Amino acid sequence: MNILIVYAHPEPNSLNGFLKDLAVETLSAAGHEVIVSDLYEKNFKAVADRNDFTELNNPEKLNYIQEQYHASKNRTFTSDILEEQDHLLWADIAIFQFPIWWTESPAILKGWFDRVLAYNFAYGPGHYDQGNLRGKKAMLSITHGASSLANYGAYGLKGDLDERLFNIQHEKLFFCGMDVIEPFIFHSSTKEDAKEGLFNDYRKKLLNISNEPVIPFHPLSHYEKGQLKDQYKTSIQQELEMS
Ligand SMILES: Cc1cc2nc3c(=O)[nH]c(=O)nc-3n(C[C@H](O)[C@H](O)[C@H](O)COP(=O)(O)OP(=O)(O)OC[C@H]3O[C@@H](n4cnc5c(N)ncnc54)[C@H](O)[C@@H]3O)c2cc1C
Repeated sequence: MNILIVYAHPEPNSLNGFLKDLAVETLSAAGHEVIVSDLYEKNFKAVADRNDFTELNNPEKLNYIQEQYHASKNRTFTSDILEEQDHLLWADIAIFQFPIWWTESPAILKGWFDRVLAYNFAYGPGHYDQGNLRGKKAMLSITHGASSLANYGAYGLKGDLDERLFNIQHEKLFFCGMDVIEPFIFHSSTKEDAKEGLFNDYRKKLLNISNEPVIPFHPLSHYEKGQLKDQYKTSIQQELEMS
C-alpha cells in the first residue's frame, strides 16, 4: 500500500513526532511505501488566498472556489499545492497526525485542507460517497490534552469527541469520498506505565491498517433534501447488529 502521513506538529521531539516516527517505522517494516508530508518542516502556507494560483480566471474579483475549479482543470495551482495533491493521488491511505488545538486541527493543517482538498480536485461535482477521492482511505491519529478521557465522553465537559472529529472525518475526508478508518486517540497525560500499552495498540492498528473498520457514514442516497430519510434514522451499526 502507498501511505501518506500528513504530520502537523512544530516540534520533532514531541509526542506527535514520536507517533509519526512510530508509524513510519511500523508501516515501512511491514512493506508499505510511506511518504511523510511534514507541514511545519515545509513551512506550509496555511492561508488560502489569490497567491495560490499561477493564473487567475477572474483577477478582478477573487472567488476562491471558482479559481480552484479553474486551477484543477489547468494545473495552475502553486507547486506546494500540486505536490500535496500528487501525494494524495499516489496514496491508498492518508494518515493525519496532529494534536487537538482549540478543539480542532492546528491552523497549518486547516490550511492544508482549505488549499489542497480543492473544488474539482477532491470533490465536485460529486461529494460524500461520490467524492473524487473515493477508493482511498483516511485515518486520524490525534493527541489531546484533557485531564481525563471523561471530559470528552457523553455529558463530558468538552463535549463528545466524535462530534468534534465529525468536522474533519465527515465534513472533509468523507465529503471528498474517502472511507474513514476509526481514529487512534492518544490522551497526552496518560500515565507513564500505560503509555507503552497505547503505543503497542497503535502498532497493531497500523499493522492491520488495510482491514481496520471504517466509520459507517451514511451514503448520500440515504438523505433527502439534506435530511436523513426516516428509514435510516437508526445507525447503520445498529442495523448491522440487528441483522
Ligand atoms: C494552542 C493549543 C490549544 C490546545 N487546545 C486543546 C483543546 O482544545 N483540547 C485539548 O484536549 N487539548 C488542547 N491542547 C493540548 C494539546 O492537545 C496537547 O498539548 C497535545 O495533544 C500534546 O501533544 P504533543 O505532541 O504536543 O505532546 P508533548 O508536549 O510533546 O508531550 C505530551 C506528553 O507526552 C509524553 N511524551 C512526549 N514524547 C514522548 C515520547 N517520545 N515517548 C513517550 N511519551 C512521550 C510526555 O509525558 C509529555 O508530557 C491545546 C494545546 C495548544 C498548544
